[in-house]
Amino acid sequence: MPALPVPTFDDVLDAAARLEGVAHRTPVLTSSTFDERTGASVFFKCENFQRMGAFKFRGAYNAISHFDAEQHKAGVLTYSSGNHAQAIALSARLAGIHATIVMPHDAPEAKVAATKGYGGEVITYDRYKENREEIGRRLADERGMTLIPPYDHPHVIAGQGTAVKELIDETGPLDMLFVCLGGGGLISGSALSAAALSPACTVIGIEPEAGNDGQQSLARGEIVHIDAPRTIADGAASTHLGDYTFDIIRRLVARIETVSDAQLIDTMRFFAQRMKIVVEPTGCLAAAAVLNGIVPVKGKRVGVVVSGGNVDLPKLAHYLA
Ligand SMILES: *Cc1c(COP(=O)(O)O)cnc(C)c1O
Repeated sequence: MPALPVPTFDDVLDAAARLEGVAHRTPVLTSSTFDERTGASVFFKCENFQRMGAFKFRGAYNAISHFDAEQHKAGVLTYSSGNHAQAIALSARLAGIHATIVMPHDAPEAKVAATKGYGGEVITYDRYKENREEIGRRLADERGMTLIPPYDHPHVIAGQGTAVKELIDETGPLDMLFVCLGGGGLISGSALSAAALSPACTVIGIEPEAGNDGQQSLARGEIVHIDAPRTIADGAASTHLGDYTFDIIRRLVARIETVSDAQLIDTMRFFAQRMKIVVEPTGCLAAAAVLNGIVPVKGKRVGVVVSGGNVDLPKLAHYLA
């Protein structure tokens, strides 16, 4: 199969049409306390309320919606530290096809259980010793299944871009947009939407301090690989950007900053206490950067993507205690 071209905003529009009536149009929340603390007008796009609890449903469903009859028959395969696994498992179930998921042995229990609950077949590996991409490619070859990677795929990127399309459709133009990144699928799609719908908007990426490969990549002008980072932001614990995502990020993302695990915990507490919402550590990255003044936002209209809410409850209780 020829490689697909780098996606554009037209692909986001196409994905939005495919997702219409299937994905939730998630709420945009505000908090006067958050605005008072930061001096900005902040709009939270709450993908913790998306189907399966994170934005990843958008990209996974969009990718599977492009499958032909032969691909349907063999099914879909992926590797993921969690939310993409659930997203593929749920999307495969909706499409009536088989899903095989390669997951790290230490993935959060809630994410493994949910993936199996959606009918996905789970194969585990040791993320400190083995390469999930190799395992995924080998299994896909052996079984004739279509591999849908978690971020470096045009249909995945286009699907993820629909969240910020909805956000800006609702709020109107923004001055700044904060989006977390792991492999960069979410921020790439978000940047396509922001560039088309709010061209003056500055797009800022936020990574965990322990895993700032994106920040290094932007600075060096090439994709930098790092060791598997140890951070509570498990959804952003990827080791490198992808070819598609880096192509878009280097053109459309102004800067990438980092936040610490302690700042993520403070932000999780803010969301629970003040806004009454459960947000997983990775989902707190963008908000934590704004709350901690990592980038000045005073007087600005700011979009913040809250990317997901899947966290083990005992862990959440521990963080909030
Ligand atoms: C996957 C994920 C991310 C990171 O998304 P990328 O497309 O890999 O950059 C952020 N937050 C949550 C909740 C995720 O599941």
